[in-house]
Amino acid sequence: MHLNIETLALINGGQALVLALMLWFGTRSGSNRAVKGLRLRAAALLLEAGGDFILAFDFKLSQLAVLLMGNTFNLSAQALTIVALRMVLTRSLRWREALMLGLAAWLGVTYLSTVHPDYRMRVLWGSIILACNALLNLSALWGGCSKQDTRAQCLLFWAYVLAIALLAWRNISLWTLDTPPQGIGVPTPVNIVYVLLIGLQPLLASVGFLLLYNEILQRDLYDLARIDPLTGVINRLGLVEASDVLLTKARAKNESIGVLLIDADHFKSINDRFGHDDGDRVLLELVANIRRMLRSNDLVGRVGGEEFLVLSPSVKEGDLLALAERIRSAVERTPFHINGQSYALTVSIGAAIATGNEPDMMAARRRADAALYDAKRAGRNCVKISPT
Ligand code: GH3
Ligand code: MG
Ligand code: MG
Repeated sequence: MHLNIETLALINGGQALVLALMLWFGTRSGSNRAVKGLRLRAAALLLEAGGDFILAFDFKLSQLAVLLMGNTFNLSAQALTIVALRMVLTRSLRWREALMLGLAAWLGVTYLSTVHPDYRMRVLWGSIILACNALLNLSALWGGCSKQDTRAQCLLFWAYVLAIALLAWRNISLWTLDTPPQGIGVPTPVNIVYVLLIGLQPLLASVGFLLLYNEILQRDLYDLARIDPLTGVINRLGLVEASDVLLTKARAKNESIGVLLIDADHFKSINDRFGHDDGDRVLLELVANIRRMLRSNDLVGRVGGEEFLVLSPSVKEGDLLALAERIRSAVERTPFHINGQSYALTVSIGAAIATGNEPDMMAARRRADAALYDAKRAGRNCVKISPT
């Protein structure tokens, strides 16, 4: 197989140009970081295409000028790609490191092509910088991949690990073979694999970016459907799903789940007195107070208005009543502040126990509702439990 660098550069350049246009025009304009990251990746592809076209057509420039200009375009594209990936992942952008690596690569490759021409050293230097670029990308991807919560991040993570292995393989063979190839155009197995992957690189990286973007959009939509925008706790849908999961676990362990329905007392008068915006702030403080009293595996969600549901797995009646009492007294002891003045807030709480035998949480929820009604009738600021 004959490896022609000009042909490869032409294919690469055309591919990068088409992908740049697709990424730019195929994403809706928006101000969020993921969209900006995709657009920055499109800009990087344009630079990459520029560098490739200079290599492919050489525009009657001297070999040195082609090398210097081609490298400037391609290395700038790599720096932009590092930042773009971090934008999509909402990690710190590392502009400085990305640009310093690009500059170091440019200076080293220029020196080893002109002042002190040495093919093996040039490949080694270029590979070290590429590996550092890959490490920067790996560090951005590691968070998601290590928690196993995103497949696209994991896929890209391993793609960069493979890229580093390929760079190592290329250099080891250059330095250990009896007759190492004297250029990338010599069709050795390493060169062929390397050139093929470099040829596919714009496509592979762009698909990786799109997979990441898709994953981020899906996660955002999932959260939007389940998180209450005012208080940040889960909403009804989130509570229904969490209840099903907790009930399945409770069934398996033959345990019960504590249910607390918490309602702010006379909340309407707070709104009437201070206005809806301050009422919202009081709700936020109330949620913070409730959360402070919960164990790590307890859950709180907003049922609606100023009513919250706590699900507390693996508890018996006594523990549940103690938890409810802790919440009630914490709210009573923590006044809220408006315009420098402090005011008291209290809550009434209805408690119920759900056993693993129940098909869903509806019946327990109704029992907690009835207990809450009792608490309101008993004068508010108290806890009532419903018999199972
Ligand atoms: P009770 O002690 O009987 O529970 O009295 P209450 O006034 O708290 O009861 P009610 O359910 O009649 O009123 C709840 C109020 O909560 C009515 C509504 O204005 C207010 N509210 C519901 N959702 C929000 C919200 O998101 N923000 C604010 N600020 N107020 C809300
Ligand atoms: Mg109320
Ligand atoms: Mg209410």
